[in-house]
Amino acid sequence: MTASNNSSSTKRIAIFGSTGSIGTQALDVIAAHPDKFCAEILTAQTNHELLISQALQFNPNCVVIGDESKYQKVKEALSGTETKVFAGEKALQEVASFDTYDMMLAAIVGYAGLKPTLAAIEKGKPIALANKETLVVAGEIIMQKALEKRVPILPVDSEHSAIFQCLVGEGRNRIEKIILTASGGPFFGKKPNFLVNVKRDHALQHPNWNMGAKITIDSATLMNKGLEMIEAKWLFNLKPEQIQVVIHPQSIIHSMVQFQDGSIKAQMGLPDMKLPIQYALAFPQRIDNNFPRYDFRKPGTLTFEEPDLRTFRNLALSIDALNKGGNVPCVLNAANEIAVFAFLKNRIGFLDITTVVERAMNKIDFIANPTLEELFESDAEARIFAATLLEL
Ligand code: NDP
Ligand code: MG
Repeated sequence: MTASNNSSSTKRIAIFGSTGSIGTQALDVIAAHPDKFCAEILTAQTNHELLISQALQFNPNCVVIGDESKYQKVKEALSGTETKVFAGEKALQEVASFDTYDMMLAAIVGYAGLKPTLAAIEKGKPIALANKETLVVAGEIIMQKALEKRVPILPVDSEHSAIFQCLVGEGRNRIEKIILTASGGPFFGKKPNFLVNVKRDHALQHPNWNMGAKITIDSATLMNKGLEMIEAKWLFNLKPEQIQVVIHPQSIIHSMVQFQDGSIKAQMGLPDMKLPIQYALAFPQRIDNNFPRYDFRKPGTLTFEEPDLRTFRNLALSIDALNKGGNVPCVLNAANEIAVFAFLKNRIGFLDITTVVERAMNKIDFIANPTLEELFESDAEARIFAATLLEL
């Protein structure tokens, strides 16, 4: 059992989405560095069993189970401990406003991560951000609020962590452009006549990364890279034309920055999300670990290609949303969440995901400078439109 260590040098981490791919890897990082970190808050949506075993191991101050029907089970299992148990969507926001932690790791998947993250920023808590959808939906409002509250937003997404690492020490030096690398996913090089028959289980096999289901499908459709372009715009205050995507199937270069003098910096390493997670949690320090290292002496070639926007149209739609701004990225994200959910349930085909997103983007009224309320409405409208279209 790893006892919670609340000495003043220990950073108390609130992991929102602790039972997911990012959440569990973050707990591995915390377990490896009990002198530096402890888990203060853990949250899950439905996986009460894993949440319980995490709570027994890490002894957090509190846990939240999103699904209220699981509350009793969690409460009973933790009755002999000091961990407080809360349930429901509202509790996620309330707990995010607690004073007791030092940093939030935002690792909930999808739009559901937005409100707890906003609550943490309001409270002045530094954010290690994995949940890219938060910035896709409400990037302008989030970054504005973070600036107002002097809250650092530290990227966990590997590409954005790479860019962030390349920017350390560059002060006001001007970025000419950033180059976001993409593995290309399991269907790199394929054409629509192949993609039309793709099934859920095949799309869930990512060549380089082992991630949650939603982001794995987004990686297969290249929507993930589109969401990342929008994420990068807000994190690094870039214009759309400063963001370039290049396919790099080996996932060794995690992304690059080209500066005003043409010099390009890259951040490299074997693909392992624990590294960007650890970097965000420990920033500005780098800490030791025993993760496998990339070896340049081993035979291997690093290759780069332009993405195929005609085949992977989700990326083209994202670029459109990036250029239009306003509520369009929010609509794109909402329709995509519904379509990916339907695809994972074997209700629609792989290429239908794009059709749903495109039709929602054409359907929902454009708002150039949406308020948060208007974004919530656009999200709801796009979800209802997509679900109706798919007869869900
Ligand atoms: P997972 O699906 O593996 O985990 C999601 C987590 O969020 C789980 O703890 C889940 O709980 C919880 N959750 C799901 N739905 C809700 C909800 N409606 N309300 C509250 N909590 C919810 O996702 P990942 O860990 O793969 O991804 C998390 C985020 O990080 C995503 O935004 C993703 O884009 C981003 N990211 C992930 C990477 C990766 O390698 N996985 C890489 C870069 C970014 P439960 O287990 O109970 O369902
Ligand atoms: Mg990424």
